[in-house]
Amino acid sequence: MKPTLFLSDMHLDPSRPQIIQLFIRYLLEHGSQAREVYLLGDIFEAWIGDDAVPADHPVLGAIRRLSDSGVPVFVMRGNRDFLLGEAFAEATGTTLLHDPTVIELDGEKVLLMHGDLLCTDDVEYQQFRAMVNDPQWQAGFLAKSIEERMTMAKQARSESTNRNSELAAGREQIMDVNQQTVVDTMREHGVRRLIHGHTHRPDIHHFELDSEPASRIVLGDWFDQGSVLEVIDGRYDLQTLTE
Ligand code: MN
Repeated sequence: MKPTLFLSDMHLDPSRPQIIQLFIRYLLEHGSQAREVYLLGDIFEAWIGDDAVPADHPVLGAIRRLSDSGVPVFVMRGNRDFLLGEAFAEATGTTLLHDPTVIELDGEKVLLMHGDLLCTDDVEYQQFRAMVNDPQWQAGFLAKSIEERMTMAKQARSESTNRNSELAAGREQIMDVNQQTVVDTMREHGVRRLIHGHTHRPDIHHFELDSEPASRIVLGDWFDQGSVLEVIDGRYDLQTLTE
């Protein structure tokens, strides 16, 4: 039986070429053997619009090769690459997924999210998210020149880096998911299993939901190594990849 693969938080960026290579190699060697591949957000460290990316982008080419080989590839936007659009989907032969999305996996309903929606303790971030997910805000941003957008994105990133180090210093809890939000969201979608990334805390959490066993699987990031969830026949295997 072929595996279904889940990856997120590659944060691909020219400053870490070895991770780009690891990701491309993984897609071509393992992705091509999969039944389906799900990329659950923050594939890219930054994405300021589909039009700002050269047509011969190596990552887009690798995803295209995978989808052309007959493996369905699904993409959910993350908080870094929330502007991934239809042109990206067309160029890569992928299907964009709404966040959240419920899929059926080996006969079970499974909820997929990027994960940032679960971090409801971070009220300031949720306000920012609501702003940048507003279609009008996005249209206004995308109407600016690529140079202007690059400047704005750079500024937003340095503000967020400062803020994250402040948060990490005092209140680590606020950067993680809120368990009540997890429970409410899973209940709302009628699932006992949730897969997400974003927090960079790879783990499989088991708990009880309405007196039934439930689990939340957190994908890891791709900073120093790779992380992938392989699902075969209802078995969930969270792996770390080294170079
Ligand atoms: Mn994220």
